[in-house]
Amino acid sequence: MPDAVDYYEALGVPRDADQAAIKKAFRKLAREHHPDANPDDPHATERFKRIGEAYAVLGDPEKRAQYDRYGQVNNGGGPQFDSDLFGDLGGIFQSFFGMGGFEQQRPGGPRSGDSLVMPLDLTLEEVAHGVERDVNYRRQTTCPECFGTGAAEGSSPERCHTCDGHGQVRQQRRTMFGLTTVLAVCPTCHGNGQVIQNPCRRCRGEGRVQETVNRTVKVPPGLEEGVRVKVSGGGDTGQQGGPPGDLYLQVRVKRHPTFQRDGSDLFCELPISFAQAALGDTLLVPGIDHPHTLQLPAGTQTGAQFRIPGGGLPAARSPQHRGNLYVQVLLVTPTSLTEEQKELLFKFAHAGGEHELEPEEKSFFERLVDAFKRK
Ligand SMILES: [Zn+2]
Ligand SMILES: [Zn+2]
Repeated sequence: MPDAVDYYEALGVPRDADQAAIKKAFRKLAREHHPDANPDDPHATERFKRIGEAYAVLGDPEKRAQYDRYGQVNNGGGPQFDSDLFGDLGGIFQSFFGMGGFEQQRPGGPRSGDSLVMPLDLTLEEVAHGVERDVNYRRQTTCPECFGTGAAEGSSPERCHTCDGHGQVRQQRRTMFGLTTVLAVCPTCHGNGQVIQNPCRRCRGEGRVQETVNRTVKVPPGLEEGVRVKVSGGGDTGQQGGPPGDLYLQVRVKRHPTFQRDGSDLFCELPISFAQAALGDTLLVPGIDHPHTLQLPAGTQTGAQFRIPGGGLPAARSPQHRGNLYVQVLLVTPTSLTEEQKELLFKFAHAGGEHELEPEEKSFFERLVDAFKRK
């Protein structure tokens, strides 16, 4: 790595330059120092990278402020280049960045480990309370035999002769704009800049091996479907001192036999009898962690909804706040009645003026005929 570069100097702008001036300076310098424009200059790539690094920081007001204050930018290992940064410059960077950005431009340099994503299946009860979950997974880690070099004991990787350690080779390509030089990944070392003559037997020269990891992860309450729980550093181990990737557990909530969910609110149905609906009753409603009492008023209609405040789930952002439980009552018509119940129901019907109903005197068919005759 070169010594720390003054980013303002690299772009040739004063420290109080505004964003437009910084962008303008970057565009001009980037065109001038683009390696394609300087095929015979071996330092062009280095200069171009420095310009890009400077702009990645100064072009971002937040990172610039950090740089102004501390003289450096902490963004987790090397400058991050988002595709947006170069999008407005059109295709001139395509050939240079087509290989995946600067991370691969430094052969043998630190490379961060990949992040991993795994599903995390939760029951609604686990969503309500949070849970500590043991997760088992496999990830790539530094080979303990060769300590990541990939070379067998007593040997070390050698500089690639095809690309002279750069990891890239220049190729002439005929395009609609004529002959252009593009940088391509070195076919001999695949971009590493090094070749291993005598590979490590444990990792076959990869420098990394698979390991099984067991971890206990604290899952907070209130998580929704699709949300990811981040386990910092739980991903693949980085290479050459690069930071590890992260592990993400993506929440999948299992269907619950009783409750449906909308955010932190829960919904359930509760069957009630005609007598309860008509006379009112004190009901015990199942809850996600304990039953709730519900005062059913006399004369409740089927389908009526009642709200039990706090009977829902903890809110993801503030678990001390809980959503509501909405209970929809459904009137259940009895399918089998005792003789006594029938008699009482007929009495009930008569008392209410339903004189057409008569117990067992006429068959269903006869009553149907009567009904037609009346018309
Ligand atoms: Zn090894
Ligand atoms: Zn090579």
